[in-house]
Amino acid sequence: MVAFLASYTALELSGGLTALANARRRPAWLAGGAMSMGVGIWSMHFIGMLAFSLPIAMGYDIAITAASLFLAIGVSFVALATASRGALSLRRLVVAGTIMGVGVAAMHFTGMHAMQMSPGIDYTLWKLVLSVAVAILASIAALWLAFTLRASDVENIVVKRLGAAFVMAIAIAGMHYLGMDAANFAADSLCLADAKLDANWLALAVTAMSFVVLVGTLALIGFHTSSLSISLRRAKRQLHYLGTHDALTKLPNRQQLSLRIAQAVSECERKQTKFAVLFIDLDGFKSINDSLGHSVGDDLLQVCAERLRQDLRHSDMVARLGGDEFVIVVENVTDASSAVAVANGVLRRLSQEIVVNGLPLRVSASIGVAFYPEDGQNADELLHNADAAMYAAKQSGRNTFRVFESQMNHTALKSLILQRDLHRALGDGQLSMSFQPKFSVASQSVTGVEALIRWRHPELGDIPPLEFIPIAERSGLIVEIGDWVLCEVCRNIALWDAQGLPVPSVSVNLSPIQFNVPDLVGRIDSLTGAAGIDPCRLMFEITETTAMQNVEKTSRTIEALQARGYAVAVDDFGTGYSSLGYLQRFRFDQIKIDGSFVRDLDSAGKRGSALLSAVVTLARALQVEVVAEGVETESQMRTLGELACDQMQGFLLSHPMPAAEFMKFLCGAADRIVVPRDTCATPVA
Ligand code: C2E
Ligand code: CA
Ligand code: CA
Repeated sequence: MVAFLASYTALELSGGLTALANARRRPAWLAGGAMSMGVGIWSMHFIGMLAFSLPIAMGYDIAITAASLFLAIGVSFVALATASRGALSLRRLVVAGTIMGVGVAAMHFTGMHAMQMSPGIDYTLWKLVLSVAVAILASIAALWLAFTLRASDVENIVVKRLGAAFVMAIAIAGMHYLGMDAANFAADSLCLADAKLDANWLALAVTAMSFVVLVGTLALIGFHTSSLSISLRRAKRQLHYLGTHDALTKLPNRQQLSLRIAQAVSECERKQTKFAVLFIDLDGFKSINDSLGHSVGDDLLQVCAERLRQDLRHSDMVARLGGDEFVIVVENVTDASSAVAVANGVLRRLSQEIVVNGLPLRVSASIGVAFYPEDGQNADELLHNADAAMYAAKQSGRNTFRVFESQMNHTALKSLILQRDLHRALGDGQLSMSFQPKFSVASQSVTGVEALIRWRHPELGDIPPLEFIPIAERSGLIVEIGDWVLCEVCRNIALWDAQGLPVPSVSVNLSPIQFNVPDLVGRIDSLTGAAGIDPCRLMFEITETTAMQNVEKTSRTIEALQARGYAVAVDDFGTGYSSLGYLQRFRFDQIKIDGSFVRDLDSAGKRGSALLSAVVTLARALQVEVVAEGVETESQMRTLGELACDQMQGFLLSHPMPAAEFMKFLCGAADRIVVPRDTCATPVA
């Protein structure tokens, strides 16, 4: 019983909790684990000795007895520290289990030595070897059970640890009784040990002591686990809020807005009424932000958000799309005039003076108005057209509003042009790849690199991927572009190899359209195979929204990619469904937290770090790497260090670089590049 209780306590303290707890407090938890393990092994031995009788008076030498206790604690510490450090490799498992088993045996024989028998105890060699072997094998099994965690184990972790504790108890008790069986006492033996330390009293003291220690630590575990689960639950709630609201202004975000518009569409369809969408963009905000600084800009946005909220009816909604863009949904408008009244009210309220940091500031706004059903059938169309109308308001001198008219759709025209030219871009060599490294937060070494596509249009100049990728997706051209990207990445890897450069793992973005192409894995394989690039050198990034489209199919595809040796990351984490739950379903190798949350670290203080710390906590338990994207400031980097986030990527460390420049970067950083391990060199059937 004591061995079992002690093992459970020790595994719980050193395993689960260190994984979840703050990295800096790990040694303390480990020490607690080693303490209960050591005391447990020691107590088991002496309680076992109570059940053992010799026809002579028995006693124990105090110094040796004490030494055996410290031995048990010390060895437990080394073994548990070895087993609980990161992902458990087979080698480390065997080393840790052997230390543990030998430690249990060493404690036992030291304890026996404390009896100071004369003549000495004679051990039957094979039985002795057997007892040590049982201790080692059972320890290995117990540590394996306790410390190899799969995603699906997280829910029934307690059951798993109980099983591990049971096996560990067998290691301890089995060793003891086999060891006793190996011991032969001569008929005329004498116990020379300090007789003042009476055996029964010792056993009683031991029992009491072990109970106090074990019950105490178990209570501590209970307390810690419950506070941990409370904080995890709180983080989940906060995560939901962060996922649906803008951190700065506390207004609903784009996702919530889309939901609200969809609701309004179905309601108005039923009642045959109309509603209006007002797209609001502040005039001159960018120059205030650039000249007076972000904190003034942030304060200004908060005041504007407050003014937008004023005087609205309960059924109307204000949301922030990002930057200085806001949207108001006005329900039940009978004719255009009621929406116009709202727009005029907004213009009037926003134009009043705002004092920030003692500075009197004045902003105005340009507003575009679109109506359901005439200007769009869904959220995307309505927002798109309201945006076009807002653009027309800007053109006509700002601080005004415009109602949408179909010729305003300049963006639609541009996307038509881009779609036409994108076909040619692929053949004409207008596309290229840039590379942005990822770094370890702790050591600053280069842990990987992300490949990002670039398009230089002969007349329009650089077109950002966020502008042309959606167009390529709509026309289906993304599949061909995706193949080109992968070929280009493989070609570059081969080039770097040929130069003898150390090459980190390279990540490639997959669009949802590509992800849904039948036989994605076969397609990827034939491209990398033709280029002679080993799968373990590549990682694929899919966004969480892509992953959630079809949960079953996604799991299968992820597993198929991983079985071939490719790694898989979830991109832009936190912007879509923001569900911690599905992180447990999909076995991602890496989680990339969206840059917007990293920015919140500066602007929203503690609130901003809620998502990051929740994800880091969970990822630690699932043994998945966490990468923070969009790191731009020193203070963000510092906070990431405090949160024990694994990796980071962002302009602070490096901008994306064209291939030639990246090659120079590889040369310069050669001594701190983490090269992927060749784990998939063995061919997979
Ligand atoms: P992403 O996958 O989230 O890529 C990260 C984006 O953040 C990149 O923008 C990168 O330049 C930018 N970035 C990196 N560090 C910072 C920072 O510190 N601050 C800020 N503000 N931004 C930073 P980029 O290259 O414009 O790419 C935009 C998106 O286009 C990518 O987002 C990805 O979704 C998509 N994309 C890019 N290349 C490809 C590609 O080859 N295939 C596919 N399917 N999508 C791609
Ligand atoms: Ca990405
Ligand atoms: Ca991203």
